[in-house]
Amino acid sequence: MPHALNTRLVHTGEHQPTAQGYTPTALPVHASATFYYPDLDALTGAFERGGDAVTYARHGNPSTHALETLIADVEGGRGAVVTGSGMAALHLALLAAGTPRGNLEPAPRHILVSNDLYGTTHKQLKVFFAAQGVRVSTCDMTDLAATRQAIEAGEPDVLLCEAISNPLLKVVDLAALAELAHAVDARLVVDATMATPVLCQPLALGVDLVVHSATKYFSGHGDALGGALAARATLLSDTARRYGILLGTVLSPFEAKLIMRGMKTLALRVREQCATALTLAHALGAHPQVAEVVYPGLPGHPQHALAARQFGGLFGGILAVRLRADTRAAAAAVMSRLRIVLPATSLGDVYSLVTYPPVSSHRDVSPAERAAQGISEGLLRFSIGIEDAADLLADLTQALDGAAC
Ligand SMILES: *Cc1c(COP(=O)(O)O)cnc(C)c1O
Repeated sequence: MPHALNTRLVHTGEHQPTAQGYTPTALPVHASATFYYPDLDALTGAFERGGDAVTYARHGNPSTHALETLIADVEGGRGAVVTGSGMAALHLALLAAGTPRGNLEPAPRHILVSNDLYGTTHKQLKVFFAAQGVRVSTCDMTDLAATRQAIEAGEPDVLLCEAISNPLLKVVDLAALAELAHAVDARLVVDATMATPVLCQPLALGVDLVVHSATKYFSGHGDALGGALAARATLLSDTARRYGILLGTVLSPFEAKLIMRGMKTLALRVREQCATALTLAHALGAHPQVAEVVYPGLPGHPQHALAARQFGGLFGGILAVRLRADTRAAAAAVMSRLRIVLPATSLGDVYSLVTYPPVSSHRDVSPAERAAQGISEGLLRFSIGIEDAADLLADLTQALDGAAC
């Protein structure tokens, strides 16, 4: 029997014995740009072995390798690669997914993406893929029939979606999408930043590569920027690692340490955040200034049943609120009145955060496209922290009350 997730989050990758015989309980920070060996043959062997061999720090270091061991384990992957940001991890994942034979010719020809991705992901696809001749097309991946049609019409070699989308919290059927992708020999890449391994392990559902912004729930404390990918096949993670060395996407050992520490409490934090988000989602729906609460845990959410089945009864720590006065002024008035919830751009922190998608996550998406996606002017996205639920509800209620005057 493998140990449960919360046991593995605490122990995997840690406790590496030293040559002197003692074993540190907590991962040391291996802040060294380069590493040497007793002779040239040993150094040659390390370079040739690749993987987690320690040579020059752009290839990784013992701190990042320990974090990769942990992430591969909790995602149930054959390998993992950590990067300096979530965007770097997405870039590597898309390149590796388009290189099925691992011959280092990154060539996704056609990437089919879900129409409600994180704004910067859309921009990366446009600036680094579409601009170089890769076809990038979109469809609604919550609609399996439409996705099947788009796959049959366009024959993509890579599919990309988010397990829970941002900010509208749409949920996709990961196992069904993996099946559709594999039917045409395409690979499915899933950004599971909002879901975390506490809600689901996409690789077990057939997903080829799972990507995280480790800046969010993995780190969890708003003090580190990082990214990670984990792969169902060693070939994909090895390919991503080789691209990462060439592109210089390496994570610093200091950030690796912070993220490794953050991950120890991932399951505790996320379960608490899910419980508080559900309480707040129910309570805020009754406020006169609120037109709609968007949260997969509410029975009225279009993918509520799928989310309940796929995420083991948890629904995530993010919710969105559409104000009755659906305007930027109303959104600004609520944001400026909040006292506990911080108006900072991020999610997944111990602190509760509120963001206004048009100026943060979706600033790179045109107003017309935002409107088409349902991201209206009075929509606020809340990332629920680990503060007391009653304190948070009181803060949100006074802000909504005050903004109405
Ligand atoms: C934040 C975020 C990213 C980008 O991650 P960075 O660490 O900021 O580069 C990608 N996808 C999602 C869903 C995110 O929330």
